[in-house]
Amino acid sequence: MTPSNEEPSTKNQEPPRSSMNGKPVHTVPAKTVINFQSGFGKKLLCDDLTFSLGTACAYTCTFCYVPSAMRKTVKPLLDSIGKTHEQVVIRRESAVDILHAQLLRPGGTACGRTPRYSDPADTRVIYSSPLVDVAANMELVRETIEACKLILQYTHWQIRLLSKSNLLPKIATALSAWAYEIGGDRFAEIANCRMIYGVSTGTLNDALAATFEQGTPLVSKRIASLHWLQDHGYRTFGMICPSLPLPGGEYDNFAIGMMRALRAERCEHVWAEVINVRGESMTATVAALQEAGFPEYARALHRVSTDQAAWEAYARATFNAHAHLYPEGKLRFLQYITKATKPYWEDQQDRGAILLGPASATPAPPPIAPAPSTPPVIVSGAGNHGRSRSRRPEGDLSHPVGSRAEPTNDSQL
Ligand code: SF4
Repeated sequence: MTPSNEEPSTKNQEPPRSSMNGKPVHTVPAKTVINFQSGFGKKLLCDDLTFSLGTACAYTCTFCYVPSAMRKTVKPLLDSIGKTHEQVVIRRESAVDILHAQLLRPGGTACGRTPRYSDPADTRVIYSSPLVDVAANMELVRETIEACKLILQYTHWQIRLLSKSNLLPKIATALSAWAYEIGGDRFAEIANCRMIYGVSTGTLNDALAATFEQGTPLVSKRIASLHWLQDHGYRTFGMICPSLPLPGGEYDNFAIGMMRALRAERCEHVWAEVINVRGESMTATVAALQEAGFPEYARALHRVSTDQAAWEAYARATFNAHAHLYPEGKLRFLQYITKATKPYWEDQQDRGAILLGPASATPAPPPIAPAPSTPPVIVSGAGNHGRSRSRRPEGDLSHPVGSRAEPTNDSQL
């Protein structure tokens, strides 16, 4: 918590936009903004905590899993307006106020309410967003800043923000200035140490990315924003996602280029993932590549999408190209496995493979009924705060330092 009792402002300075990236904006009622059981802990992005201020993104990526993951939740709205998920931006009404309420205990006056999550030892990582880009334009940047202020003020959590934009430095500088204003140097240092910023791209080719990530800033601008954050002492991570099958098979060159572009030695961790979509999203991505003049990429993607063995070979080639470049613990390669591929990928976990999907689940042992005379065992301090394996540096406050979806349980609408 901050040393000040000042309430962070949640007021919007300007009227909300009615359209973003040519899409109409719809604002819908919501019950919650923070999801405490998102499932994203499996990807080591967070300790299962996520927050989302919206449900449909201002960007349009052909491979995005959110439309299918949120199909049932947003169907009534989409049916009523005759639009698809990709054609609209959906924001959550009073999202920052709802987040505020989730962080405080109920009852009492606004000034007298106490934080729910004020334990200094609770330094879990919360991730945003599993559903929308947190910085797709300045209005959304401002909303994300207000949400982060509340989390910084009322908890000791770390906040991981991922974006396909080049606007994360706007968030970083605004939060640094705010933290300095209300708590001086010390709180500004602590607040900076609790923020982790990352940009996402699966290619360094601006034109190639523009075919399937519509409305997003150029990859080169995203990378420049990451460098700015690194040069100004902020904590950063890399997200090489989604990476396509390469027509020429030059995965080693690809991985080296990505590592250099991200300046991986300055990132705390680097996530990587091949393109995992199926069905309509895959068809749309192949078509986009074809239409934009990348027929060789379209053919390569079509091939792996229709040939399981080819897809597995592409995933392994991509993984191995990354894995031999990174020191132990740095790479986090997200891989959906099957029963058949499980043995191979289990052997790669020490090299950074993170196993996902139903086949990755370890069968639960059969329940053992306790003997009637056995007293209950109380385990203290059993909370798993280390799941994200990303801890705030201790004693070094002078250097402040995301395809296919897992179930998000993100049905807050
Ligand atoms: S992949 Fe991310 S940036 Fe792209 S549309 Fe989906 S949520 Fe937005």
